[in-house]
Amino acid sequence: MGIVSDLESILPGGVLSAREELIPYSRDASHYDGELPAAVVLPRTSGEVSAVLKYCSGKGIPVVARGGGTSLTGASIPVPGAVVMSLMRMDRVMSVSVEDRVAEVQAGVRIDALNRRLAGLGQMFPPDPGSSIAATVGGIINTNAGGLRCVRYGTTKDWILGVEAVLMDGTVLQFGNRTLKSRIGYDLTSLLVGSEGTLAVVTRAYVKIVSKPQAVARLLAYFSDIESLGRAVADVKAAGMEPLIAEYLDGMTMKAVESTGTYKFAVCAPYVLLLDLDGPEEALSRYVQEASSLLRRSGATEISSTTDRAELDTLYTARKGAYSSLLKLRRSERDVVLIGDIVVPPSTLPAVLRSINSIVESEGIRVALFGHIGDGNIHANIFFDQGDSSERARVEHFHSSIARVALEHGGSVSAEHGIGLEKMELLREEYRYRRSEKALELMKGIKSVFDPKGLLNPGKVLH
Ligand SMILES: Cc1cc2nc3c(=O)[nH]c(=O)nc-3n(C[C@H](O)[C@H](O)[C@H](O)COP(=O)(O)OP(=O)(O)OC[C@H]3O[C@@H](n4cnc5c(N)ncnc54)[C@H](O)[C@@H]3O)c2cc1C
Repeated sequence: MGIVSDLESILPGGVLSAREELIPYSRDASHYDGELPAAVVLPRTSGEVSAVLKYCSGKGIPVVARGGGTSLTGASIPVPGAVVMSLMRMDRVMSVSVEDRVAEVQAGVRIDALNRRLAGLGQMFPPDPGSSIAATVGGIINTNAGGLRCVRYGTTKDWILGVEAVLMDGTVLQFGNRTLKSRIGYDLTSLLVGSEGTLAVVTRAYVKIVSKPQAVARLLAYFSDIESLGRAVADVKAAGMEPLIAEYLDGMTMKAVESTGTYKFAVCAPYVLLLDLDGPEEALSRYVQEASSLLRRSGATEISSTTDRAELDTLYTARKGAYSSLLKLRRSERDVVLIGDIVVPPSTLPAVLRSINSIVESEGIRVALFGHIGDGNIHANIFFDQGDSSERARVEHFHSSIARVALEHGGSVSAEHGIGLEKMELLREEYRYRRSEKALELMKGIKSVFDPKGLLNPGKVLH
């Protein structure tokens, strides 16, 4: 029998094999062109995940686990001949306990769907990537995704108590559990967080939840130069303020957002900082006043604020769609937007942003900047023609130059989008920079313990 008929006998009604059905699974949200997989399987239970993996392991067939397919680094792109395992039919929120502050969810639950369920209980799951409408719990665990609320709540790793995961040989295991504390040897739950589908397939997770914030006010502080904006963020942190979000957009990103018709900024300025403050209703106007004075001292040219629920929601959604909005500013069909993703300590932002600005100017390339600036995360979005090899070389040079700036300021070459296909060289460079190349050997050793045949998402993260 062929692979497809074998898989159909393991998973009746859960296999896609027609060319047109496979095409969407050959790509993700990155600019990479992928290969058609041999088949796509859609299991409904961890038993089915186990049966497929066991079969593929026996036959030596590579498997790429997939959630929403929103990876920006090519992490969910299949190698030729691979089976893509989509977790999208495993989309149940199995239980929520407000008392224990924990939810038990299947890996294919989308983040927005989880938060809709939790909102009814006055709760939320804090990690909130811009892609939350499509990204899944399994996907954000495997990329250790961040998003808008990291400045207050940290990244996905801070919210995962335990997972059920299936090894390539079909063994089903539970790491961690539903309690807030658990010290049972090496922390294998954390090892899976950020492993980009290279160690095991995550089928279920215990995630921490929190009460939704009370009243929220948003400040929009406009700046004429990027260094002042960086100074303002460092000042906010130094003053001990704990904003819910601290995001920035440059003029090109503001225009892109406006072009979608979802939001119009009151002021036309080169940069805007969005700062959400929360607390008891009666305290909000004082918080806004205090923050406004600080931002003015740091160089904000104009400041507005709002507590209007509809406006807060519209702009939040528009900010989450910033990358998609930028895609509309491409000059030709061949143009792609490569999203950069570095992170630095917030105290270094003025210097880092100044350096990035001068690299942009000297390279003469088209770049739009936005990011989760409160945690030092900068996304430099580079527009370029994929088919033009000299443009591609300039973009690669730009990319490595800003990665270098991040390293020199104590930062990292990848903040939240992971390594995938895109950053394998930069990953090596970061460890070389820290004189810790041996860490790469340790990672390879871990990979071979979990997946001795090297069949899970091959060709990603490590060479
Ligand atoms: C418009 C847009 C905005 C974005 N904004 C953000 C942002 O603000 N912050 C951020 O961090 N990222 C952001 N991203 C990147 C992306 O959404 C995240 O990386 C997200 O975590 C991916 O989730 P997913 O379900 O789509 O995973 P996929 O893309 O399907 O997979 C990502 C990786 O996880 C693996 N994987 C998926 N599910 C499993 C599983 N169950 N078991 C094992 N491995 C698995 C895959 O093999 C792959 O390596 C954005 C992307 C887009 C397109």
